[in-house]
Amino acid sequence: MLQTNSKLALCSAPFALFAVGSALAQGQQDFSAVQIKTHQVAGNVYYLEGQGGNVGLIIGDDGVLMIDDQFAPLSEKLQAAIKALSTKPVRMLVNTHVHGDHTGGNENFGKLGLDIVAHDNVRVRLAKGVNGAAPSPAVALPIVTFGDKITFHLNGETVTVGKLPPAHTDGDSYIHFAKADVIHTGDVFRTTGYPGVDGGNGGTVKGTIDALQAIVDLAGPNTKILPGHGVVSTRDDVARFRTNTIEAQRRISDLIKQGMTLEQVIAANPTADLAPKFVTTGPQPDKAVTDRFLTAFYNAVKAEQ
Ligand SMILES: [Zn+2]
Repeated sequence: MLQTNSKLALCSAPFALFAVGSALAQGQQDFSAVQIKTHQVAGNVYYLEGQGGNVGLIIGDDGVLMIDDQFAPLSEKLQAAIKALSTKPVRMLVNTHVHGDHTGGNENFGKLGLDIVAHDNVRVRLAKGVNGAAPSPAVALPIVTFGDKITFHLNGETVTVGKLPPAHTDGDSYIHFAKADVIHTGDVFRTTGYPGVDGGNGGTVKGTIDALQAIVDLAGPNTKILPGHGVVSTRDDVARFRTNTIEAQRRISDLIKQGMTLEQVIAANPTADLAPKFVTTGPQPDKAVTDRFLTAFYNAVKAEQ
């Protein structure tokens, strides 16, 4: 239970934790008990569930492309899980965004010689150090960056990595597998948490709503949506998450216009009934998680008014 709670805390909206990156998380958490579970999404697209963001994979004769890498202490376990799926080397690693539960293994995987790929802003933020954390070493930085989108052609698949509006952060990407009909959303969409707007890393509420719409527009009725955290979902699930995000924005905006302080909004908990709509898998958010969500949303909505 403790572990479940700490996982929730890492996955939801604890930007104070993100601020110090994976080093603190590693110091606080015992990863030895984490087991990596392998799930097939569609065709030769899989994801690995461990601790931290879902790790997307496409395997095949051309090699493995990997999406996100959880925390550094899990790199060997992730490698073992990938080897169990494919004897081919991992050629590329895409970071969906900067957070340490998605990039914590970059140094380990970078040392293996694969190419790390991400939006321009991910490299800039990792090189500076995310929210005051130590700068990432050069080997952990994306060696290929893009502004709008980049496309990979491997294993008979067209894999497009595209920039989303500033939502969870200002470096969020989706990854679209055209043939398998799968979209990895990064943390813009999750089934285990509130919408997470990390203002310290350029995230916005308006951008979150736009990014969710972009994913809905890209998806078809049968597209499998692989969230940053949680379980494989549908386009309709993303659309509902967007509707609830708009509702949370509206309610908090109204309270701000009425002059309510952050403390008053936290006390009122105006989105209590939305929590089970956002968090459809895993434990429901506790008060600390809800307070962090309300704080991030309040600050972002106020700045965006
Ligand atoms: Zn994140």
